[in-house]
Amino acid sequence: MKKFSIEAECGKARAGILHTSHGKIETPFFMPVATKGSVKLLSNEEVLESGTQCMISNAFILHMKPGLETIKKFHGLHKFMNWKKGLFTDSGGFQVLSEQFCLKLSEEGVTFRNPFDGKAMIYSPENAMQIQNVLGSDVAMCLDDVPIAGATEKRVTEATQRTAEWASRCKEAHKNKEQLLFGICQGGVFENLRKKSTQQISELGFDGNALGGLAIGEPLEKMYDAINTGLPLLPKEKPRYLMGVGSPQDLVKAISLGVDCFDSRFPTRTARHGRAFTSKGNINIDSAIFRLDNKPLDEKCGCFVCKNHSRAYIHHLFRTKEENAQKYLSFHNLWFTQNLVKRIREQITEGKFRQKEFLKTMK
Ligand SMILES: [Zn+2]
Repeated sequence: MKKFSIEAECGKARAGILHTSHGKIETPFFMPVATKGSVKLLSNEEVLESGTQCMISNAFILHMKPGLETIKKFHGLHKFMNWKKGLFTDSGGFQVLSEQFCLKLSEEGVTFRNPFDGKAMIYSPENAMQIQNVLGSDVAMCLDDVPIAGATEKRVTEATQRTAEWASRCKEAHKNKEQLLFGICQGGVFENLRKKSTQQISELGFDGNALGGLAIGEPLEKMYDAINTGLPLLPKEKPRYLMGVGSPQDLVKAISLGVDCFDSRFPTRTARHGRAFTSKGNINIDSAIFRLDNKPLDEKCGCFVCKNHSRAYIHHLFRTKEENAQKYLSFHNLWFTQNLVKRIREQITEGKFRQKEFLKTMK
């Protein structure tokens, strides 16, 4: 069976189908982040109702808690979460390398301190694959070496090389035939390294390829330079995933460049800070201007929050620290994001998607 098919193209943008063991995912698509197996403040039913086709969880975090014994008892993460649609797992390269966990980085893998028992442990490409094979996600991600934003060229060179070696070991260690495996390209914002990494990872022949190590704090124009460098070098016939990107404007721009897949905490994290996406830009519901505002968060939105509640009500809940304020904003922002991507997909299919015109409708 073909794993990915492109159904329509409009400029560089594409609409396609990613075939997984839990059904088809229409591309382009956006994944909310369910690090520990749950999107913050939203039930799986609400995530589904938002139009979400696929979520992404974190293998490194889940293998510590609840641990693989629990997941095995439930025959995989889908059944443990009771989520029947698409599910990616990230290997957790970004997390394991953070100051919170990382003790040492070597060719073998990352030595980290498990915060639950204080023990030092190794997390290697082989571990990342064994864990994801057990989790049984539809798409597993390779373990990559992710340098922090602003890292030196020397550090990014080392990370690029290590990422290629680890990707090759991941491919070797990946044994779950039901699960697709995506490679991750690094290279930071250095053009030569981004090119090199993209070529190295593409040559390994994964089911899909991701641009990683971006949207982690580098200036936006540097991120787009790296996307413009890396994206054309990725195989056209395979899904192209831009990790960590999720603002409405960035989704529109990246889809127009030919990206098929995204994940980000952005919609739900901004919601928890009181910000709502609207078709006229973001609003801060904490602002006093909404005290008597009887309009919905966004007049063009069809989500249950916008159908049922006013800005004044959500402003009141937010000001009085009622948790439902953050929950309603999270649902609205996720629904808004999914609806945005769906509309773009429809326009690509009809051959009508134009980035500039689309962005104008969002102001
Ligand atoms: Zn809404």
